Amino acid sequence: MFRFFVGFIALVILLPGAVVAEETQPCVFCGIVAGQREGATVYRDDRVMAFLSIGPRNPGHVLIVPLLHAADFMEVPPGTVHAMTDAARRIVAAIKRTDLQCDGFQLQMNNGVAAGQTVPHAHLHIIPRYVGEPPPKTPEDRVSLAELEPVAAKIRAALAALPAETPEPPLPSALPPMGEVVPLSRIKEICAAYGMMDLWRKIERDPPVRPFKSDGCTGWFNEWKGISIYQAGFLHDLKYWAGYPGEEVERLVADAELMNDVARLLKSTAMAETMFHGVRMGGTDKLSASFSWGFGRKPLERAGATHPAAAKP
Ligand code: 5GP
Ligand code: ZN
Repeated sequence: MFRFFVGFIALVILLPGAVVAEETQPCVFCGIVAGQREGATVYRDDRVMAFLSIGPRNPGHVLIVPLLHAADFMEVPPGTVHAMTDAARRIVAAIKRTDLQCDGFQLQMNNGVAAGQTVPHAHLHIIPRYVGEPPPKTPEDRVSLAELEPVAAKIRAALAALPAETPEPPLPSALPPMGEVVPLSRIKEICAAYGMMDLWRKIERDPPVRPFKSDGCTGWFNEWKGISIYQAGFLHDLKYWAGYPGEEVERLVADAELMNDVARLLKSTAMAETMFHGVRMGGTDKLSASFSWGFGRKPLERAGATHPAAAKP
């Protein structure tokens, strides 16, 4: 009993010390960032740094870390996350230009001990992978800096020689105005910007006979409480223009997406629900009707269709 008591007291005295010791332990990656620890550096800018892992899965295993300490992904500020992924793109491009000749690569981020994070400073792994490569070594298998440094030098040299990336074209800030005929080249750009490349491929395969122009949100407001919903109407018109009469599922999806877009733009569902009611419940555009807004396509099968869009030239 006495022994138990002494042990208990010792535990009470030692435990806080152990906790403090753990908390005050210097962060390994902060040490590398500060230059207090050696690291086979590959890249550095004003937000992030990249160096080779001391326990590489394969040669060229890079870790990209934020310069400012952040425990995990969720603690990394958004601009720094961008800097990490931008760096990853360039470093992978550089690795591919070296004689490392990897068949593939992994981008991996472990967050939290449960997810396998062993260093509590956020880091993005770039791991070159090979077809038929041997099984992984244990994490304790460390590589000397002398062995890492030539690999880092190769990647640094390839990075320095990397051509500048072509800047991504900006999103079209303004859609063509209502009633203006939109050329196919512009339609392609719009499809790309709005993630509608499947629709573009369909248009390219079989272009509608009439040119496209949007009339906005037919019968509805293009602007509501100072917020424009023209984009929603424009994209909806484009989907209908590219569609065939009889593509019932596509039509329903296009209508549902219109409602979603309107709700998102207005940050409220009220208008979207009213429109849904008008188009789908109170309206006449039933899915089973042979009439379609696909006015860019085949001649309408049934003249005298009752939807307002049928009156369009
Ligand atoms: P995690 O398991 O936390 O996702 O990955 C930690 C990574 O950091 C492993 O690839 C491990 O080999 C590497 N690492 C751990 N300590 C050091 C170190 O002191 N220097 C370097 N360069 N890498 C380290
Ligand atoms: Zn740190």
